[in-house]
Amino acid sequence: MLKLIPYPNKVTLKEGVLEKPYKINEIKTLSSLGEEGYKMTIDNDGVTIKAVSDKGLFYGKQTLKQLEIQYKNALPFLEIEDSPQYSYRGYMLDCVRHFFTVEEIKKQIDMLALLKINTFHWHLTDDQGWRIKSDKYPLLTEVGGSRKQTMGDGIKVEGYYSKEDIREIVDYCKQNYINVIPEIDIPGHFRAAIAAYPHLSCFQQKTIVGEGYGISPYIACAGKQSVYDFLYDLLDEILELFPYEYIHLGGDEALKLNWITCPDCQKTIQENNLKNEEELQGYFMTKMVKYLNGKGRKVINWNDGMLGGNIQGDIVVQYWKESKECKQAAYDEVKKGRKVIVSPFFSFYLDYPAGMTPLKKTYNYKIDINMEGNVWGLEAPLWTEHVENVNKLEEMTYPRLIAVAERNWTKRADYKSFLTRLKYFYKILDMRKIAYSKNPNPFFLKGKFDMIKFFVNALKKVDKENIKAQRATKKLLNQKYKSAQKERK
Ligand SMILES: [Zn+2]
Repeated sequence: MLKLIPYPNKVTLKEGVLEKPYKINEIKTLSSLGEEGYKMTIDNDGVTIKAVSDKGLFYGKQTLKQLEIQYKNALPFLEIEDSPQYSYRGYMLDCVRHFFTVEEIKKQIDMLALLKINTFHWHLTDDQGWRIKSDKYPLLTEVGGSRKQTMGDGIKVEGYYSKEDIREIVDYCKQNYINVIPEIDIPGHFRAAIAAYPHLSCFQQKTIVGEGYGISPYIACAGKQSVYDFLYDLLDEILELFPYEYIHLGGDEALKLNWITCPDCQKTIQENNLKNEEELQGYFMTKMVKYLNGKGRKVINWNDGMLGGNIQGDIVVQYWKESKECKQAAYDEVKKGRKVIVSPFFSFYLDYPAGMTPLKKTYNYKIDINMEGNVWGLEAPLWTEHVENVNKLEEMTYPRLIAVAERNWTKRADYKSFLTRLKYFYKILDMRKIAYSKNPNPFFLKGKFDMIKFFVNALKKVDKENIKAQRATKKLLNQKYKSAQKERK
């Protein structure tokens, strides 16, 4: 068996070998293998790669690269016919909680290309930082670009990407046939923006960039025209930098403490006959979606941002939260015919230790039958609350991302065969000086121990104010909807 990842969908080995040096013929031709597919023949004529597009030829060359590492002196005669299972194949990197340089990102982009991943989802804004320069709103990075510390650790975290940096990454990705999707997270995870521009909040809240983790109540007001205008303006600037048609607008974990008492938000609920604050989020997001649709762009939202069920326009669901109601929200969107990106928290979240999410579990994830027909593809996200540097980034990312990459591309999954091939793939990681995890399937006790250690440490970094705000929100919502029920009776 060839030691390739992702494994090609059809391999026929033939008798004979091709000695080095050899010719590589690239031929663009009509093919039934689709835009990303390719056919490779290795015989006496050399290596011939045929595809309908440059992208297909590129994937053929990625396969060849792996073969050349495995077979140093001569390549076996063979025929490969290959095309991906899913057309969206993603990796998400959070560059907010910790900052990564352009060079550090490019190193990962090289890996994405080799794994035939075609989308880099770039998480650029959050409570703890704003990492993309805006000319119209310079305070976003001047104020929002740094936090003094994280729960008293005294370590400053700062940095942002200039427009030049962004263009450099986008261009580098383009050379590797990778689309870049920026994520501007709204209305929640917005504290860094509010620290810079308090008028974006419900009560002109003066605050600092978040210095602890968890779900914060500093969210954008959904009842003020000035907030919408700010966001439209900002998005115009973002669109100029990112040519791919999709923009991620987050939508996750929007704690609605302020919305419940904000006169502007409540007025918007009443005037638009909305049932509750979840529907207000749907109303808010619909305005953003329509604005972007009007500019020929499409939007992606995390599934817990779709609980209102009332978002209109061209939008894709990213399924991460697996609670009953959030899963149902994803099903409901799928029923409307929307596409879904599959990123299950318990299987694909790369920020959790191997004791909780071992490689085997990641590889063997079963697609939910209720989503199957609408799956656009899979994505593994790396959130970096507890990822302080690039070595840790790589330890958390690999080899689990390699498993997701194979599941994304290869139509027939086989974990045992994957493990055998992975041994060879580690050689490539070594050559590229990737600090991958050496123990992705820890023994039970070791795994549990690492997990407890992780959560004890994580708990220390949670902002207690956020926990209080969550409790207060729950209480307020209970009161509000209970009294409403009574009134109806
Ligand atoms: Zn408000």
